Amino acid sequence: MKRTLFAIAFLLATTLTAAVQSPSQFLGFEVGADRKLADYKQIVSYFRALAAASPRVRVETLGKTTLSEDFIMAVVSSEGNMRNLEKIRETARKLADPRGLNDEQIAQLARDGKAIVLVTCNIHASEIASSQMAMEWAHALATANDAETKRRLDNVVLLLVPSLNPDGETMITDYYRKFLGTRYDGGRLPWLYHHYVGHDNNRDWFMLTQVETKAMSRAVYNEWYPQVWVDEHQMGTDGPRMFIPPFADPVDPDVHPLIWREANLVGTNMAFRLEQQEKAGLIYGYSFDAYWLGGTRNTGWWKNITGLLLETASARIASPIVIDPSELHGGSKGLIEYKATVNHPHPWAGGTWRMRDIMDYERIASDALLETAADRREDLLRDVAVRANAAVAFGGGKAYRIPHDQHDWPTAQFLAALMLEHGVEIQQADNGDYWIPMAGPYSRFLVEMLEPQRYPEVRLQAGKDILRPYDVATWTLPLAMGVTVEKTTMPARFKPVTDIKPETKEVLRKHASQPKPRIAIYNPWGGALDEGWTRWLLDQYGFTPKSLHPADVKAGLQNYDVFILPDIEKDEIASGRRAGGEGSMKYIDELPPDYRGALEKEGAAALKTFVENGGTLLAFNAGCDYVIENFNIPVRNVLARAADFSVPGSLVRVHVRNDHPVTAGMAEETAIFIDHPIAFETTSPGNELQRWVLMTYPEEARDVLLSGWISGEEKMTRKAAAVAMTYGKGRIVLLGFRPQHRGQTHATFPMIFNALYWGREN
Ligand SMILES: [Zn+2]
Repeated sequence: MKRTLFAIAFLLATTLTAAVQSPSQFLGFEVGADRKLADYKQIVSYFRALAAASPRVRVETLGKTTLSEDFIMAVVSSEGNMRNLEKIRETARKLADPRGLNDEQIAQLARDGKAIVLVTCNIHASEIASSQMAMEWAHALATANDAETKRRLDNVVLLLVPSLNPDGETMITDYYRKFLGTRYDGGRLPWLYHHYVGHDNNRDWFMLTQVETKAMSRAVYNEWYPQVWVDEHQMGTDGPRMFIPPFADPVDPDVHPLIWREANLVGTNMAFRLEQQEKAGLIYGYSFDAYWLGGTRNTGWWKNITGLLLETASARIASPIVIDPSELHGGSKGLIEYKATVNHPHPWAGGTWRMRDIMDYERIASDALLETAADRREDLLRDVAVRANAAVAFGGGKAYRIPHDQHDWPTAQFLAALMLEHGVEIQQADNGDYWIPMAGPYSRFLVEMLEPQRYPEVRLQAGKDILRPYDVATWTLPLAMGVTVEKTTMPARFKPVTDIKPETKEVLRKHASQPKPRIAIYNPWGGALDEGWTRWLLDQYGFTPKSLHPADVKAGLQNYDVFILPDIEKDEIASGRRAGGEGSMKYIDELPPDYRGALEKEGAAALKTFVENGGTLLAFNAGCDYVIENFNIPVRNVLARAADFSVPGSLVRVHVRNDHPVTAGMAEETAIFIDHPIAFETTSPGNELQRWVLMTYPEEARDVLLSGWISGEEKMTRKAAAVAMTYGKGRIVLLGFRPQHRGQTHATFPMIFNALYWGREN
């Protein structure tokens, strides 16, 4: 009798396990092996099969990607929790906005609730190991029968997104397979790995311009309310093996300190478990700061979610690499020399590094996340409410008013709609003004979005230079968008708003009856982020521009009215080579023959002919340096060789001459976004051309900076930020800033639209 029961139980167990195939069994190759990659469709098919076979796994579709792929997220937890997901979500939602709950009720919800943790993979498509690891991890969780895994799954609901960039994963796997075994094996993609924004898909998490960002953001802030978010990336090949928080300085003073304590708790356990398994090269306090807002999990810091970034060293996609010990180096914030330090006590010695290694590191760290979340479930749940309540108290009776009576109401509506999408409460008065009460869980987020940044200057030793920001130093939306927002007190309750449909911008209404110009954008091999953002912006507003590779430009531009040179370094436009000082590494690995070349002499000549014959050349930021060098125009960049000028990405003040077609309709003063050493000085030209200074920096250095950080601003005073000129029968417009920076700087979008029509007015 006993024997039979045992036999039946054994049979049942084996049948169940057999039904839940491993990713390697299901896909028919060894996942994680050298030179083997599962593509996005295979990953989705595996997750769907796993969900069909296991009661611990469910697959949700978050939406469609830019190129119409299904964007999926797996939900993984114990059988019991999977039957109870609605209640678990409801508890998380209440704790995320605990207004109206007393301490006892919060404590009770934390006791009864389950931790919800979100793990996102592969947003940067070439950082591909995590997407492969995700299948193995989900399979292990679905099939494990040991007490510890069951305990973790009983306490935690895991939201697992195998790729935040499905289109990019498809591009990378297609390209990788095409050149596998050739001299281009594992090489970089010749174009952006997101249809529009490439690497900047991880700079979009407060602006929500892309469909993937929007869909994920909705799942996080409107549906699941996770307490912890871990985003898995890869970094360079020749430094430490894996960055795990604690983050590096500086720290944003507006973020609740419990965020850092929890990130450190989770991160420290990850490193502890990795070190126990003798994984070398772990580092914290390195490179990645606790100040910048734009990345996936970072935006959550101001919205009471503990976010962690993991960065593991890369291979060549799925092909192994060999690193000589002499090639290992530090040089970044937190590790100046490559050696043992307290934040990097066990340096990796060099040798072979493969995708399997990356997956193993990521898997151990991911399991350690579940362990900590299970151990600290109640703390994590309660702390969300603690942070939310602190934010409500901080907001008090304060409010932001977006007055209806302002320069650019459609863009003001756009800003209000964006805040609504972020889960912020918006009300509207009878006179049309929007009101944003601050007494809510996201009050710190509102401050961060709507008020100027003062970059925290941190020096690690007296007299030494300050720590530089990882990315930009500012994101103040009212300045970037040219919207008036006033901080005041909430005078009354107004009508709650649930939907805002912004009207059309004035500049677009003005040109609506004119035929659309034919627009070309320069697209270098290897891709350029600003090309992608420019194309995105113009597509958004129905311009359908064409992106041209070097050979297309050399073939002649007679079919276009406007040619746009985006923010690309002049050397890269001219020769495809990277600039850099004496002794710097200028090597970039070779692309296949079909994807080579730059503008060179022939392209420069084609551009000149285009403008002389009546075309408009529009250049942004670094692209202006190329025009200055190649066209005989009365403009120079006074900051081209400035030694002590630095700006990592800040908003500064300019005065606008708005009696020119390019600046028509703009306010007399505006903010522009700058991140490149460029400011123009013009001179009075001969009779062959006319020039207009469209924007100038203030007279006084102290008036330049509006938000962020800058050094050497006295070199910009009274210099021009934008100039326009005639050239032959055509026109040149130089915008020495980022007029459409990551889709954020609505204040300067009108200059782009106006420039497209300059000389073509009816
Ligand atoms: Zn990355």
